[in-house]
Amino acid sequence: MSSWQGRVACRYGVNREVLGLSLGLPAALAAPRGFAAADYAPDLEVVAAWAQACRLDPARIESLALKRRRDQDRYVWAHEAGGAFVGFSACPACLDEDAKAGRDHYLRRSWLRVEALLCARHELFLVEDCERCGARGFGFVLLDGAARLVCRRCGAVVHHASDEGREPSPGEKAVLAALGATPPDDDAMATARLLWSLPRPGMARRPLLCWVVGHPRSPRGMARERAAPLSTASLDWRRATWIGVAQLLDRAGAREVFGPPRFALDQLKAWTQSRPLSPPRARLGLHLAA
Ligand SMILES: [Zn+2]
Ligand SMILES: [Zn+2]
Repeated sequence: MSSWQGRVACRYGVNREVLGLSLGLPAALAAPRGFAAADYAPDLEVVAAWAQACRLDPARIESLALKRRRDQDRYVWAHEAGGAFVGFSACPACLDEDAKAGRDHYLRRSWLRVEALLCARHELFLVEDCERCGARGFGFVLLDGAARLVCRRCGAVVHHASDEGREPSPGEKAVLAALGATPPDDDAMATARLLWSLPRPGMARRPLLCWVVGHPRSPRGMARERAAPLSTASLDWRRATWIGVAQLLDRAGAREVFGPPRFALDQLKAWTQSRPLSPPRARLGLHLAA
C-alpha cells in the first residue's frame, strides 16, 4: 500500500506524508511510520481518505493490507519515511520490464516475504541497496511521465546491469529458489530465531548465526529484533540466516551445496540454555557450622 501511495504522491512532486496531510489526515496517520501501520494493517481512516481522493472503492484499497495474507513475522518489516522506502527488496529485471512496458515501477508484494531472496521470475538476487553508491533505500520519482524507483542518495534509477557478475551459482540458485517457493513453517521460523539468539552469558556476545554460517562482510543490517530476525535483518543477513536454517534442518539441498552445518541443532539449543545453578554448598556448610 505504501508503494502505491508513493507512486501516486510522486506524480504531484511530493511524498506520501505531504499528500496524506493534504487529504486532511492528521499527522500521525498521514504517513504512518513502520510496516505494521503502513502496509500490514492500515488504519481505516487512511483507507477511507485515500479511497475518496482517488475515487476508488475502499474495499479495493483495504485489500492491499498485507494482514489478509499471512502473519506479520512472515514479512520483511520494510518501511517508508519521508519518501524513502527502506528495506524493500526489488528485482531490477522486473522493474526493467515495467519500464519497457511503459508502466510505473512498482514493488511486488511477494518481494516482502521473508523467504524471498531471489526473484521467482528471473532467478536473480533481489536488491535493497543502490548498485551505484551502496545507499540503502529507494524512492519514487516521476521521469518522463512514469514513476521510477531511484536511489534516495544518488538518484540512480534501479535497473538490471547484466555484467555485474552477482548472479547466484546454479547450486545456490536451486537452494534459494526452493526456499523461496515454500511458505516458512514454524520449525523454520523457530530455527531462525535460535540462530539469532545469544549464547548464554559469558560465552559470546554475537548471535549463534555467526558461528554457524560465518557472516556477511559487514555487521550493517543485522537483525534489529532477535525475536523476528527474518523480518528485521537486511537481505544479506536474511540470506545467511536462511542458508543456516536449511543446513540445520536439512532442507532444499542446502547441505549438498553449502556443506553440513558446523554444529548440530541440539548443540546450539544447549548453548542458549543457562547452566543449572550449582547448589550453594559452601555457603550452606558455613551457615550450618555457625
Ligand atoms: Zn524479476
Ligand atoms: Zn545511489
